[in-house]
Amino acid sequence: MKPSVTLLGTGTPRPEALRGGTSLLIRYGSDAILIDAGRGVVRQLTKLGFPIDQVNPVLITHHHYDHIGELHDVILTSWLSGRTGSLDIYGPPETRRIVDVLLTQVYDKDIEFRVTGEPVHGTFPPTPVTEVISGLVCETDRYRIYADRMNHGDGLAFSDAFRSRWICLGFRFECDDGVIAFSGDTVDCEGLQRLAAGADILVQCCYLARSEIVGEHLERIAKYTLASADTAGAIATKAGVRKLVLTHPRIKPPEILEEMRRDVQRDFSGEVIIGYDLLSVSC
Ligand SMILES: [Zn+2]
Repeated sequence: MKPSVTLLGTGTPRPEALRGGTSLLIRYGSDAILIDAGRGVVRQLTKLGFPIDQVNPVLITHHHYDHIGELHDVILTSWLSGRTGSLDIYGPPETRRIVDVLLTQVYDKDIEFRVTGEPVHGTFPPTPVTEVISGLVCETDRYRIYADRMNHGDGLAFSDAFRSRWICLGFRFECDDGVIAFSGDTVDCEGLQRLAAGADILVQCCYLARSEIVGEHLERIAKYTLASADTAGAIATKAGVRKLVLTHPRIKPPEILEEMRRDVQRDFSGEVIIGYDLLSVSC
């Protein structure tokens, strides 16, 4: 059986009727790995018909709210849906603090209400958080997951104190039947090339078509924050990936999405897929 990736949410922080916040589900046999937990993630899993209590682990790329805004929903709803074992969470430094705040300061009363007032739910199972920066994240006898550090704003004018806390990751899933890489939010960088090298599928953020990269704000985004159609094809070609799935586009009409595809195809001869919510792609 080939592994697959389902795009649960392909949007950005801007609200869109047809695109939720970033979230992906990698499935391989009975394994189900969730990457990021953006707006609508639980509803999208429900639309997909995938039981949320079967998701484990959860990987977090970085702490922009369009990637973690509904992490609490994944943790709590998987419990209410029958999860009795741990939910393992992996993410960059400070992920543990965020999960702790959610469970001990935001939803502590909700959890106690259900544990003591509705004992049918059982005790609240643990959510161990492992903070990672690069290298092997976790492995089983069926797959291995690696992280690498991405460049999502490294060139912007942040203080050193902020910079030391702003660590953004991408992930690479490997099994005997294929390799799936997810860039997270990033521009081209060495870490992305390591993650994507020879992947069957690269899910790559691609924010703007070439014609949209106009004006100081958007030029800075394409250069420092989010890969766009001027670089996404070259990234995939350099890494030798087979299928390139574009996600995280700025709101745009369908004809601009097609323009973005043509832009990327100028630099990449493999298959280019414009991502949309609930699209599944297999290795
Ligand atoms: Zn981001």
